[in-house]
Amino acid sequence: MSCDHPDLLPLEEALRRLWEALPTPTVPEVCAERDDPATDRASMDGVALKASEGRAPRRILGTLFAGSDPAAFTVTPGTAVRIMTGAALPRGADAIVPVEQLEPTGELVLPTIDPEAGDHVRCQGDQARAGDLLLPAGTPFNAARIALLAQEGQPIPRRSRIRVGVASTGDELVPSPAPYQIRDSNGPMLAALAHTLGADVELRSALPDDPAALAAALRNPGDIRILLTSGGVSMGDHDHLPSVLKDLGARILFHRIRLKPGKPMLAALLGDLLVLGLPGNPVSAYLNALLFLRPALARLEGREAQDPWRRARLVTAVKHKGDRPLLHPCRLAEGRLEPLPGKGSADLVTLARADGFAWIDSPGQEPGAKVRWLPVI
Ligand code: AMP
Ligand code: MG
Repeated sequence: MSCDHPDLLPLEEALRRLWEALPTPTVPEVCAERDDPATDRASMDGVALKASEGRAPRRILGTLFAGSDPAAFTVTPGTAVRIMTGAALPRGADAIVPVEQLEPTGELVLPTIDPEAGDHVRCQGDQARAGDLLLPAGTPFNAARIALLAQEGQPIPRRSRIRVGVASTGDELVPSPAPYQIRDSNGPMLAALAHTLGADVELRSALPDDPAALAAALRNPGDIRILLTSGGVSMGDHDHLPSVLKDLGARILFHRIRLKPGKPMLAALLGDLLVLGLPGNPVSAYLNALLFLRPALARLEGREAQDPWRRARLVTAVKHKGDRPLLHPCRLAEGRLEPLPGKGSADLVTLARADGFAWIDSPGQEPGAKVRWLPVI
């Protein structure tokens, strides 16, 4: 076990820095343009009638649909109007008797219950009065809030998917590897992950371990908002990304976090471009992309952060002696986590077999312990 440094940043702190460093669009202030609803409305399909006439038979004058002008009818004693959900109530009616509580008898209908005024009626202004503040400015987007903007006739901000570039780094990455070389598996993996998380992805060719080539790629990132790199952020002689970013004047949000795997993780802002410098080992690259890309996308899209963690019990103990929290690969069986015999951060085979990763705090969790875990996607 390597000796950890006390200065490694806890995951929560790294996530907080990332969240706070990114700009976020928000919903503008929403005020009610008119009463909501703007008239009394039927909330059921049935007939609109005057409740005080009780169960007396009613003659049907016609039908009002959602969107019909209710001025077409006036409900007078002994009459009613068939009405569909969402239609405005005709004058003279104060209740809806639903279809299920009506008996048709020739030209007439008979309520089978005693209606009360207001039954199945959404009254004018029930939700809001014209001018009411419905949402303060600065609220994150979600689909319901966009619906509210639409309802109030406010412009809907154009929101597109965040464009993410994916570029592996490493001289060892070649399409037809000799025994001392490998294929680029991180590139396709990270592109797939970003796609699953809702990004618009551009998978690029792998970059060589060459500071000039890295600098050129970072200086001209093209039309992307986030660059996901893998490799080259650790302590090796060929790990150039941190120094290249610094030389380019990037703002390093964090480098090196208290997590296993993922210690070398780096995040930086180069102008508007967020660079997530993932470690090269596949399990580290995958987990750190899962941990950091999801909130970055949410933030840049103006959404609330979703908590990706679930909780379950461990079937067997996971031994862990280090002072970094460990993310350990597990299979989920009948709602419980079975730790897999993972062989560390280079073990792509176990990553591909895992259902998720259990969070193991030092010094390790016993069988039956309830832990939080991160499902793979
Ligand atoms: P690095 O972080 O660059 O030192 O890489 C750590 C380990 O991950 C090394 O064994 C690399 O060969 C491996 N690795 C780096 N990039 C990739 C990649 N794109 N696909 C698969 N393995 C990689
Ligand atoms: Mg490398």
